[in-house]
Amino acid sequence: MNLHEYQGKSILSKYGVAIQRGVVLDKLEDAVTSAKKLSEETGTEWYVVKAQIHAGGRGKGTVEETGSHGVVLAKGIDKVEETVKGILGGHLETAQTNGVGKMVNKVLIAEDVYYPGESETNEFYMSVLLDREQGCNVIVYSTEGGMDIEHVAEHTPHLIHKEFIDPRVGLQGFQTRKIAFNLGLSGQAMKQMTTFVSALYAAYEGCDASMFEINPVLKTSDDKVIAVDAKVTLDANALFRHPDYAAMRDKTEEDPTEVEADEAGLNFVKLDGNVGCMVNGAGLAMATMDIIKLSGGNPANFLDVGGTADAERVEKAFHIILKDPNVKAILINIFGGIVRCDRVAQGVVDAYKNMGSFPVPLIVRLQGTNAIEAKQLIDDSGLDVKSVVLLQEAADMVAEVLK
Ligand code: GDP
Ligand code: MN
Repeated sequence: MNLHEYQGKSILSKYGVAIQRGVVLDKLEDAVTSAKKLSEETGTEWYVVKAQIHAGGRGKGTVEETGSHGVVLAKGIDKVEETVKGILGGHLETAQTNGVGKMVNKVLIAEDVYYPGESETNEFYMSVLLDREQGCNVIVYSTEGGMDIEHVAEHTPHLIHKEFIDPRVGLQGFQTRKIAFNLGLSGQAMKQMTTFVSALYAAYEGCDASMFEINPVLKTSDDKVIAVDAKVTLDANALFRHPDYAAMRDKTEEDPTEVEADEAGLNFVKLDGNVGCMVNGAGLAMATMDIIKLSGGNPANFLDVGGTADAERVEKAFHIILKDPNVKAILINIFGGIVRCDRVAQGVVDAYKNMGSFPVPLIVRLQGTNAIEAKQLIDDSGLDVKSVVLLQEAADMVAEVLK
C-alpha cells in the first residue's frame, strides 16, 4: 500500500527522523490560516506548496488546468493562496502518471528549507528497501539526490551506493558512519546523518514497510539533515498489525475496479490486453496469461478467484472483467484440486444465466476432480460456452475467437 508524502513524513517524524515540516489541506479557504499556523512553528514565511498524489516527479510535472508545476515555492504569505489555487483540484501529470493527470485532492504547505540560499545545501538520495536477491534489507544512497535519480542510475551508476543490512543483527553503527562518510560529510553534519539513517531504518522496520524513499535528503546550510520528500510503500500483508497505518489508505488513488475486486475478496490486477481471464491460484494465473500471449492475444487482467469458485463469485468476477471495454473474450482456466470442477461449472452456468446475455465469447477449461462431469454440465446447458479439456485446445480456441 502506498502512502502520500505527508503521511510518510508523519511516520518518519514519529521515529525521530527530522523532516521538512508542513500542514496538509484540501480546501483553498484554509490555505492562508494553515500557512500562518505553520509559520508560528517554523519561524519562516517562505513556503513550498506540494501536490499530494501517489506519483513521483511532481516538481517537474504540470497541472493540466493551470500549467503550474506540482511543487512550487511561495515566497511570502501573500503568495500562498494563488500558489495553492494553481495546484489544488487540478490534474497533475508527471513522468510517472502514464499520460493521464491525477486529481490533486490535497496539498501540503511546507516550510522552505532551502532558505536562505541554495548554495550551501546538498541534496542526497536515500532509500531503504528489501533486496529479494540477497534476502536482506538494503540502504541505497547517493550524493546525486534531487529530481533525477533514474538518470543518475542509468548514466553514472557508480555514484549509487548500497549498504546491505542483515535483519538478524540490524543496522550497525559502522554502517551509518560509512554512509555519512561516503556522502562526503564530517563534523556536525556527519553526526546528523548517522542519526538520520538510524531513525529512517527504525521507521522502515517498525512499520513493516517494503520501501522508504527519501529524495531529496537535504543537508541545510546550518548542517541539519532533513527529509524533504517521502515515498513510502507498506507491506499490505502486515497491515493487520498497524490499524492506524491501514487507515491511511487512499482509495481514490487506486484503480476503482481493483478496489471493487478487493472488497469482493478477489485477487485482481488490471492489465491492458484484450482477453479476460479467470483462474484459481496465482501460479496457474501466470501460466494462463502466458498461454493467452502465445495464442496471439494479450491478457486484460490477472484474476485469481481462489479456492471457492461458486456462482456468486464467478458472477462477480465476470462483472469485474467485463467492465473493461477492451475485453474481446474470456478464458476460464480452473484446476480442480480441492475445489470440484462440476461445482465450478455449475457456478459458471448459473452466473451466465443470471446475466441473461453474454457480450463476448466464453471459453472454459476445467481440469482435475470431476472434470468429465463438469464438461458434460456445460455442454448440456445449451449456453453459448466453448468448453475444452486440454490447455492447448484452450489456447487454439482463444486464437480462433480473436480472429
Ligand atoms: P518530487 O518532484 O515528486 O520528487 O517532489 P519533491 O518533494 O522531491 O520536490 C521536488 C523538488 O522541489 C526537490 O527536489 C527540491 O529541489 C525542491 N524543493 C522541495 N522543497 C523545497 C523547499 O523547501 N525549498 C526549495 N527551494 N526547493 C524545494
Ligand atoms: Mn522527490
